[in-house]
Amino acid sequence: MKVLVINCGSSSIKYQLFDMPQKELLAKGLVEKVGEGKSILTHQHKGREFRSEVPVSNHEEGMKLIMKTLTDKETGAISDISRIDAVGHRVVHGGENFSGSVKITKDVLETIEEYADLAPLHNPPNLAGIMAISSILPDVVQAAAFDTAFHQTIPQKAYMYAIPRDLYEKFGIRRYGFHGTSHRFVARRAVTLMGKAKKETNVITCHLGNGCSITAVKNGKSVDTSMGLTPLEGLVMGTRSGDIDPAIIFYLAERQGMSTRDINTILNKKSGLLGVSGVSNDMRNVLEEASKGNDKAELAIEIFCYRIKKYIGAYTAVLGHVDAVAFTGGIGENSALIREKVLDGLECLGIRLDTNRNCDDSKAERLISSRDSKVDVFVIPTDEEGRIAYDTHKIASGKGEAG
Ligand code: ADP
Repeated sequence: MKVLVINCGSSSIKYQLFDMPQKELLAKGLVEKVGEGKSILTHQHKGREFRSEVPVSNHEEGMKLIMKTLTDKETGAISDISRIDAVGHRVVHGGENFSGSVKITKDVLETIEEYADLAPLHNPPNLAGIMAISSILPDVVQAAAFDTAFHQTIPQKAYMYAIPRDLYEKFGIRRYGFHGTSHRFVARRAVTLMGKAKKETNVITCHLGNGCSITAVKNGKSVDTSMGLTPLEGLVMGTRSGDIDPAIIFYLAERQGMSTRDINTILNKKSGLLGVSGVSNDMRNVLEEASKGNDKAELAIEIFCYRIKKYIGAYTAVLGHVDAVAFTGGIGENSALIREKVLDGLECLGIRLDTNRNCDDSKAERLISSRDSKVDVFVIPTDEEGRIAYDTHKIASGKGEAG
């Protein structure tokens, strides 16, 4: 079965075509700058990369370009778009309605639309991607994998904010959590690597990419996570502040006359690694500047790692005992230095890194803790697209909800 996985952002479309169930990747690519005039398509197939500039004014045009590329004589992986059996979409916000991936129906579409208020940057492009596929491939089965779904098991004491209850009842204001597909995959891989039963194993998963979040997984279920109503809460990220005192917002608005729109831009786009270092939102650049003695870049790294360390301590208390800590995402998978700084001094929690294993820069999933560490520490490359393909295949084969 050929399964196409789609991840639509506001101005981009990422895609991967799999042959399932063997999860063979047939082709993948990215359309960037959708609606911005000069769009860029990058496409990979059989180890070759193709790049072209084609104006793409909306998601439907982008999707048509992807279909053309997938069926082209030179770049294509399939002879005709009718060979695509199912399409799986990453959808950011599913609210309280979905605890697993589902087949997209009219009701599901309505719910995704409903949650657009809470995820205005994400759900509308996700919907646009679904609508584009509906128009190009009207008979194909489409499935949605929600970033929020894995976190639906979080107990009320962890998802409710201590604010008037009617704000939850009227507006749905609570912690939802994101990156769920990644946390779910990484926690399960860690359990498999330990050879333990999911039902008796606790894992702390650290997804450190452009967006960063950390999750406490108890017996296979998410019981707390750092992102909240939106992906702004929690860890320090490339351009997002993570946790701050909410009074900072009133101070900036009331005392400094800033608009809520400007404050939103500051906290979401100008903070985090970028805001503190003044250098970049990209960890590689910040690390490089710090190695040249740039104090601000060094401080950005210190704040980034300290925040993660604090959450590991908190989630150890939440879980009672921790079997493993797992790192994933561009930073978590690739930076030995960040992992070392995060875990430095956590011997008190039974966590000891093996320096050689930590510095081994193979891309494979691996154990990086020392033999005498009570807690296993893993690097596990995430595979969100592979999970979405798996769920979509399951749904399209008529085996019901997945996840
Ligand atoms: P996204 O969240 O958009 O999927 P990624 O998971 O690819 O992003 O993570 C991007 C982040 O990973 C960037 O900050 C980038 O600098 C960082 N990164 C990638 N490779 C390395 C590396 N070798 N060392 C440190 N950071 C890295």
